[in-house]
Amino acid sequence: MNTSVTGYPRIGKDRELKFASEKYFAGEIGEAELLAAAKEIRKGDLLKQKEAGITYISSNDFSFYDNVLDTAFLFNVIPQRYKDLDLSDIGTYFAMARGYQGENGNVKALALKKWFNTNYHYLVPEIDDDTKIELTGTKPVDEFVEAKEFGVDTKPAIVGPFTFLKLAKFTGSKKISDVSSALTAEYIKLVSVIAEKGASLIEFDEPYLVRDLGAEDIALFKEIYSSILSNKSGVKVLLQTYFGDIRDIYNDVIALDFDAVGLDFIEGRKTAALIEQNGFPSDKILFAGVVNGKNIWRNNYKKSLEILKGIKAENIVVSTSCSLLHVPYTLESETKLSDDYKKHFAFAEEKLGELNEIADLFGKDYENEVAFRKNQALFEGRVNSEDKGVQAAVAAITDADYVRLPAFAEREKIQKDILKLPLFPTTTIGSFPQTSDVRKNRLDFRKGNITKEQYVEFNKKKIAECIKLQEEIGLDVLVHGEFERNDMVEYFGENLNGYVFTEKAWVQSYGTRNVKPPIIWGDVSRKAPITVEWSKFAKSCTDKPVKGMLTGPVTILNWSFPREDISIKESILQIALAIRDEVLDLEANGINIIQIDEAALREKLPLRKSDWYSEYLDFAIPAFRLVHSKVKPETQIHTHMCYSEFTDIIPAIDAMDADVITFEASRSDLQILDSLKENNFKTEVGPGVYDIHSPRVPSVEEIVAALTKMRSRIEDSKLWVNPDCGLKTRGDEETKKSLVNLVAAAKQIRG
Ligand code: GLN
Ligand code: ZN
Repeated sequence: MNTSVTGYPRIGKDRELKFASEKYFAGEIGEAELLAAAKEIRKGDLLKQKEAGITYISSNDFSFYDNVLDTAFLFNVIPQRYKDLDLSDIGTYFAMARGYQGENGNVKALALKKWFNTNYHYLVPEIDDDTKIELTGTKPVDEFVEAKEFGVDTKPAIVGPFTFLKLAKFTGSKKISDVSSALTAEYIKLVSVIAEKGASLIEFDEPYLVRDLGAEDIALFKEIYSSILSNKSGVKVLLQTYFGDIRDIYNDVIALDFDAVGLDFIEGRKTAALIEQNGFPSDKILFAGVVNGKNIWRNNYKKSLEILKGIKAENIVVSTSCSLLHVPYTLESETKLSDDYKKHFAFAEEKLGELNEIADLFGKDYENEVAFRKNQALFEGRVNSEDKGVQAAVAAITDADYVRLPAFAEREKIQKDILKLPLFPTTTIGSFPQTSDVRKNRLDFRKGNITKEQYVEFNKKKIAECIKLQEEIGLDVLVHGEFERNDMVEYFGENLNGYVFTEKAWVQSYGTRNVKPPIIWGDVSRKAPITVEWSKFAKSCTDKPVKGMLTGPVTILNWSFPREDISIKESILQIALAIRDEVLDLEANGINIIQIDEAALREKLPLRKSDWYSEYLDFAIPAFRLVHSKVKPETQIHTHMCYSEFTDIIPAIDAMDADVITFEASRSDLQILDSLKENNFKTEVGPGVYDIHSPRVPSVEEIVAALTKMRSRIEDSKLWVNPDCGLKTRGDEETKKSLVNLVAAAKQIRG
């Protein structure tokens, strides 16, 4: 049985691409050096796969920033404002990715969006009325040829035309139907150029097929591919799908002249049934994605082999479920984790071995094979993963635990009486600038250069200063500033049982930004109070209310590598109980306003609307309620969300039953306000009045204008005034000026 990898990580085992790119951006190295570093990374990655014996290896899976941007660049989908900068090719490319400010002009980057249900972000191609779609680039061709020079015969992998068009933003009067045939013609040219160079297989990635598709989408897909497939220039074409099943278009896909079709058996809940019910043509190869490209656990061979055996197809290749871009490079880099843990993990490199073993076992009476038995032994228990107490606590949760009493309206009255806040109360989202002294203090403590006492002393000094600053500015609800946190998930993970941390397990989030998600290893519980001392200290510095600051269970889960041996729901509930302990401790220590951030709530929303509630919101929203349902009516619960589309899940957000929600709204032009009004949103709201991603100080007039707009949609008694997210990336000076203006604006409208 043959093996295939949809795509390999590309940031370099030690994040070489990040470091080379940053040096290039800083002018420390030139283009030639950057290109050379990239070539080394590609070479290493290709040879690794070749040595592992993978049959179908992708080229063009490398990117300096993002593959969707690469595709836009390849077909000249480059807005004029970037061309006008008159930069080199790579200069134009990076201007689209990161914006440009310099001698040649000043332009913002293309929009950045989450890639389906992952934490990877792509750049949104812009098609306007002047866009002249044309194959002007050569990247897939060059990288195919280069791979051949390294001795690796590859399948060039390219974002397919359907997904490309569906993800693009049309900024002029043109629609998809106005440009699809032009784009198709250029893809056909690309196929012929690649054919000329001697490729035998080309991979088109079409993950958009796993979304809900309408008749128009299906017609578009068929039109594009009938055309491409009747002009194959002798190359075979693999249609690669991932992140779900293609239930809306399966029969149309298998009726087309594809030579191979890649399907996802991990996230594609209906993939096996689709084949079972509709068959799979004997003249096509099925690339069966059974090795999870998104998680880091060892593959369960029994499950995978059973899936493969059950498929009624003649020609099967064992494949990754999606690109391995979403997992780290190799376990070899983890020197501190003991083998008791490591043997349960498979990063990209280890997954290559798994593909081979599965392929090898497939033809055999595998039950008795050593590789199989060794694999099965892994699933018979893990050290320190079980906590009967936690399991019992989750089992004991009752419906009443998800309900906070009294109901919102009554609580709102009680809280207004007790807190006595002015109309349009002012607050911030939690973090204050993480200046170099703050980061140095944490690092020094981590490295053991300073004692715990010194570390705490410094943070207390920062908290006291932060409180004093907020009092001077005249804010109504104060925060402690989050100086003890590196990251809103890692910080909690480090203080919870059941988590495991890695040293070098980086995955690309966007461009040069990589993240290192912690791993949920076992049952989760709280070791000891986490934030209580900091919040208590902050409160002791002032007579004003201080808001406690926590991260919610859904966000903690979504930004970790989750377990596969228990359900996501079960994991979220465990985390919810741990955070609930913290909420109750804060309350017991006199903190009567507590914010529980759910920045990543939207992220794992299923790709199909029909699954939104049953597969996710039906347990994610109650889990949030579980965290705060036991607090007194007097305690005010806040939550915060940012940078995603909320408009279509407003009722679910209201059902979180928080007392106040703050969220980012400044970039979406306050569109969300209409939706709040339409849905009779009950929760009090603080739509951010300015964008914290820019050092720009908003004027009082500007903030008043934003608030005036908000007042036309939100009752005065429910409106809060705050920035749109935490201030940790900002400097001290602009923060103070901005908040002074924010308070002045609130006072002005109170008047
Ligand atoms: N409380 C966090 C902060 O202020 C929230 C961060 C976020 O929403 N991403 O930084
Ligand atoms: Zn935020």
